[in-house]
Amino acid sequence: MKALRLYATRDLRVAELPKPEPGPGEALIRVRAVGVCGSDVHYYVDGHIGDAVANFPFTLGHEFAGEIAALGPGAEGPPIGTPVAVDPAIACGKCEICLEGDPNCCPNVRFPGSAPVEGSLAEYYAHPAELCVPLPPSMDFADGAMLEPLGVTVHALSLAKIRPGNTISILGAGPIGLMTLQVALGSAGAVYVTEPISERRELAAELGATAVCDPGVDDPVAWLLDQTDGRGVDIAIELAWGADAVGQAVQMARPAGKVVVVGIPREDVVTFPAGNARRKGLSILMSRRMKLVYPQAIRLVERGVVDLRRLLTHRFPLERAAEAFDLVAGFKDGVIKAMIDL
Ligand SMILES: [Zn+2]
Ligand SMILES: [Zn+2]
Repeated sequence: MKALRLYATRDLRVAELPKPEPGPGEALIRVRAVGVCGSDVHYYVDGHIGDAVANFPFTLGHEFAGEIAALGPGAEGPPIGTPVAVDPAIACGKCEICLEGDPNCCPNVRFPGSAPVEGSLAEYYAHPAELCVPLPPSMDFADGAMLEPLGVTVHALSLAKIRPGNTISILGAGPIGLMTLQVALGSAGAVYVTEPISERRELAAELGATAVCDPGVDDPVAWLLDQTDGRGVDIAIELAWGADAVGQAVQMARPAGKVVVVGIPREDVVTFPAGNARRKGLSILMSRRMKLVYPQAIRLVERGVVDLRRLLTHRFPLERAAEAFDLVAGFKDGVIKAMIDL
């Protein structure tokens, strides 16, 4: 089978690998669509995410959908031929953390495309059958692949315990920022968005953001406080993957408000004004992947709460996948979500 392998930073090539065999409990998936995620791009550009280091050559990819091609011994999952989205994280299900109901924080978790586990940018991928979620007829494989970032969105908003009428700021209008905007708009009182890239800012405004800010022009904290008559927002959600954004989110939150940190900063260090956070008694929540949220995510897509296709700006065949990574790494050509079709 063909797979897209990372041989060194910024060196992606299509390689021929043996087709995997589904093990006990696993489904073999004929992969049809893989989304390029900011976390894949961290490996592509830097060779690591924080302290997770890729051993080259290495296959990236974790946002994927396809068809069930075979089932391993004892596998309980959708029958062969079923189009499925794949919930990528394999928690152990046995440790104290899993049994407490927090499998997203399982210390034994295995995650495709996160070193040392090989990713899904390949024609076939073996994965636990129970993590393959059948797609409704209204959703195609690219929609299915985007359930992964939408799942991250659902988890982050669940963590924030958003209440009807809450005011929210979103720092960063990439794919997850724009999904968060769409879901939050269903119940929020106002959603303010800061984003440096003009195409993303424009889309945020089109999708219904209360107001948008270009942090290259206006100081985002001063702008937000001005928008809210100095009060700040109930919940500030950091999705910018940049070192400054957590500090800005802290300064945007109202007294006793919440900050949810979703992005992964390149330098693996964030700082924020401690006095501001302490005086306001903020709750700062680190969002870790997701729990069992694909069913909710599918309902949000089917009801039209989230329009995934507005976010899908670029598609490439496997042979041209490196172009997709360069596009996403460079924020070029108005890219929001780039998809690789296999
Ligand atoms: Zn992702
Ligand atoms: Zn566990």
